[in-house]
Amino acid sequence: NRAIDAKGLVKRYGSTIAVAGVDLAVNAGEVVGLLGPNGAGKTTTILMLLGLTEPSEGSVRILGKDPLRQPLEVKQEVGYLPDAVGFYETMTGRENLAYTARLAGMPQDLVRERIGAALDKVRLSGVADRRVATYSRGMRQRLGLAELLMRNCRVAILDEPTSGLDPQSTQELLGLIQSLSQHGMTILLASHMLNVVQSICHRIALFNEGKIGFIGTIEELADRI
Ligand code: ADP
Ligand code: ADP
Repeated sequence: NRAIDAKGLVKRYGSTIAVAGVDLAVNAGEVVGLLGPNGAGKTTTILMLLGLTEPSEGSVRILGKDPLRQPLEVKQEVGYLPDAVGFYETMTGRENLAYTARLAGMPQDLVRERIGAALDKVRLSGVADRRVATYSRGMRQRLGLAELLMRNCRVAILDEPTSGLDPQSTQELLGLIQSLSQHGMTILLASHMLNVVQSICHRIALFNEGKIGFIGTIEELADRI
């Protein structure tokens, strides 16, 4: 029951090899960390999984679909939280969620039904009617998670979600990500920080120079260091 199955992924940009042969299989419901230094190929791998970048070589199946051939289906079921999520700064948090959900084709009554619970879950109810321009980075990341909750995504791919957050906000966000997983969401979490991935990931894929040098549990990783 594979949520993600990538084989032999390679991405070249001219003479730069961003990803040099990545195989990645993720089971439904798993939380997998992509750990490695900046430039190791994590983001490029993610963009290929999402079908936002075409691989030079290799293939991707995500929820059984080819993201290059079935982009709409993949976009519906797979959520992506990039490093810095873009919002409409002059709209409130609630308006941002409602607008994005409406744009994605969600009926108005379903938006009404889900928005309160999503805001509650990420603990933004108290500030939901303030403009996003007043939000801290942590609040923005939580609003991004609320969007994934609204859409009821089966897979969430998060790229450096805790960058720029203080330790307390980091822990809070990781707790929320973990609770998404407890609701059955499959999660990929890219970070250059071991402490971020080790606390909530079932398995960790260690990226180095465009390759996965190791994939396994945190205990297996510790045995190798
Ligand atoms: P990470 O997410 O692990 O920091 P990236 O996937 O962003 O790594 O980058 C991997 C390598 O590919 C880096 O050397 C980066 O400079 C290069 N790279 C990524 N995207 C591009 C691009 N669009 N054009 C040229 N080189 C790129
Ligand atoms: P974080 O980056 O996790 O939001 P902060 O220290 O910026 O951490 O905020 C802690 C809490 O204070 C937030 O969760 C929020 O409830 C409240 N808060 C912070 N900034 C604002 C703001 N501009 N308007 C309203 N509430 C805020």
